[in-house]
Amino acid sequence: MGDQTNPFESLREQIDDAAAHLDADEGVLTRLKNPERVLETNLTFELDDGSLETVRAYRSQFNGDRGPYKGGIRYHPGVTRDEVKALSGWMAYKCAVVDIPYGGGKGGIAIDPSDYSESELERLTRSFAAELRPLIGEDRDIPAPDVNTGQREMNWIKDTYETLENTTAPGVITGKALDSGGSEGRVEATGRSVALSAREAFDWLDRDIAGATVAVQGYGNAGSVAAALIDDLGGDVVAVSDSSGGVHNPDGFDPRAVKAHKNETGSVVGYDGAASVTNDELLTLDVDLLVPAALENAVDETLARDVSADVIVEAANGPLTPDADDVLAERDVTVVPDILANAGGVTVSYFEWVQNRQRFGWTEERVNEELERVIVDAFDRLVESHEANDVKNLRTAAYVVAISRIVNAYDQAGNWP
Ligand code: GLU
Repeated sequence: MGDQTNPFESLREQIDDAAAHLDADEGVLTRLKNPERVLETNLTFELDDGSLETVRAYRSQFNGDRGPYKGGIRYHPGVTRDEVKALSGWMAYKCAVVDIPYGGGKGGIAIDPSDYSESELERLTRSFAAELRPLIGEDRDIPAPDVNTGQREMNWIKDTYETLENTTAPGVITGKALDSGGSEGRVEATGRSVALSAREAFDWLDRDIAGATVAVQGYGNAGSVAAALIDDLGGDVVAVSDSSGGVHNPDGFDPRAVKAHKNETGSVVGYDGAASVTNDELLTLDVDLLVPAALENAVDETLARDVSADVIVEAANGPLTPDADDVLAERDVTVVPDILANAGGVTVSYFEWVQNRQRFGWTEERVNEELERVIVDAFDRLVESHEANDVKNLRTAAYVVAISRIVNAYDQAGNWP
């Protein structure tokens, strides 16, 4: 844990790996390795005691060849310019892999939100929304939740934007609460695509997910929902963790009960009937399926040598370093890459945006059915690309698909004098 690999360098390496299998123009590839623009801003907001605080915030618009920039906003002390650039690139490739009509963007504020009260977070969020106003819009750039942000922050951003623009434009942001124009199924969507990807991967390997043992690192929205849905598929969740530590019971436990314990106490640690494990121990447990669902660089080259799982499904963005990826490919560990596995979030964001534009809501059943179709189709396309291109792993197969789609859109747009 704590590997210092620069995520932006990881992204560029992933693009280079795929480019070796593509007949793409060098100049176009350079374009696809850099964000189109990055906003870096200092936000000053008032604390409850009347004093002022200034914090650093970013929005990177990576690529808009296939549609409006799309991607979340995270609140985390580790947010940097390069991290946001990488995350925005991963969004562009993610949207292309699942073939939804968006480009990629990402934003972040370098804070620990637990240091602030709700009213302080509201003033800060509204100040960021006002700063973003000229850049975002239903057809320009559409933010969403990410690490440590959720419906509450999205509702504030929507309200700030609509108030300043003197209009209603719910599609300016996704991941809103249902009564503020959100979609059924959006909260569970990231975890749902992780579970679907795991099911498809086991199927591809001629194995059954029912009875498979599972460890989940990170127990926020993505990790906890993935664990519950994998449990519904018959998987046996034996270990989970969060930033405070983890719990392990080789006989398995009810992932929903662990979530209830976390909601009550703030952490999975101390859950009854399970032994403690560290995050690093959890990542190397002898399980069939490992789901890293926390932050970037959770598994580096050294740790990758000790990973015992046969299958890794990435719920987080960028949880494996490129060196770890190479070790795992050599060791024949199947990795379902983040840009497919966690794409459920942005896919249902797309459904939310469609519903907002049409002013017509879908049932949860329809959302989940359409999501399943998108993820299963994208997985099949990845497997085809893997077989046709003789690539080292499913990640490179995914980038081959995604880069081709973006390059085609760029080429078809023609020349601008
Ligand atoms: N933050 C999520 C992601 O990394 C969702 C983005 C979105 O819904 O636009 O994919």
